Amino acid sequence: MKNKKKKEQKCHICFQHFKREKLNKHMHSRSHHEAIERLKGGQQSHTCLACKVSALGLEQYVTHISTTEHLTNLDFLEDNCRKNGIAVDYNDAELNAICALRDQKRLVLKPGSSTKGLGT
Ligand SMILES: [Zn+2]
Ligand SMILES: [Zn+2]
Repeated sequence: MKNKKKKEQKCHICFQHFKREKLNKHMHSRSHHEAIERLKGGQQSHTCLACKVSALGLEQYVTHISTTEHLTNLDFLEDNCRKNGIAVDYNDAELNAICALRDQKRLVLKPGSSTKGLGT
């Protein structure tokens, strides 16, 4: 079968694929949030979707994700995802736009690396 079930989700920011439950952890990881700062080019406020806390600096955020409260909330989120199929919507219009721009540049920088979809 060509169309395999879409069990994996992609993090557009880090170019990594994750199983749906694993994505939750990744989206709250330090490396992912560092990648956001690199992408946006500077300090950002970070949102924890598990705890619904926003406007944290990276350092604050990293401290936050090591708290018991956060780990409990993240566990709950993963449980909900596994058992009830409730996935958190990590789409961020602003980040998506930045990613799209970045990907366009990558395509321009690497001509000929991908010819599919371009026709002849
Ligand atoms: Zn990521
Ligand atoms: Zn949290």
